[in-house]
Amino acid sequence: MLMHCGFCEAIGDLSRFGTLIHEDDHCAVALHPDSSVAGHTMIIWKRHVENVAGLDSDELAHFSRVHRETERVLLRETGRERAMLLKLGIQVPHLHLHIYPVAATASRADVMAAIEGTVREERPPEFLERCRESLTASLS
Ligand SMILES: [Zn+2]
Repeated sequence: MLMHCGFCEAIGDLSRFGTLIHEDDHCAVALHPDSSVAGHTMIIWKRHVENVAGLDSDELAHFSRVHRETERVLLRETGRERAMLLKLGIQVPHLHLHIYPVAATASRADVMAAIEGTVREERPPEFLERCRESLTASLS
């Protein structure tokens, strides 16, 4: 691991990056605190790799399954049609994928505002609990 990797240092306490809606031995899924769109979520891989290219085949299969199920749950619970994905690693070069569920009518400007965090959307009541229950059911 890097000397100062925020994610590696937080393994065991990844909830500092958001409200966890799933966690297993390999990854965690957290609702992002900025709520730029209600479903803004991060999938955080626990082992320190910078890119998907650093995963072995079994890890990739697990990452992909968690990604798919997380998208399905978020799209259903937000009523949105399209999952925007962002993987940068500029601030923390440790594999984590941002998911932004948006309407199919969202413009590029709408999406960029969500990514920049210049907008905020309230999360509906029970949103967190419904996401957590659905994801637990689909990944167990
Ligand atoms: Zn790390």
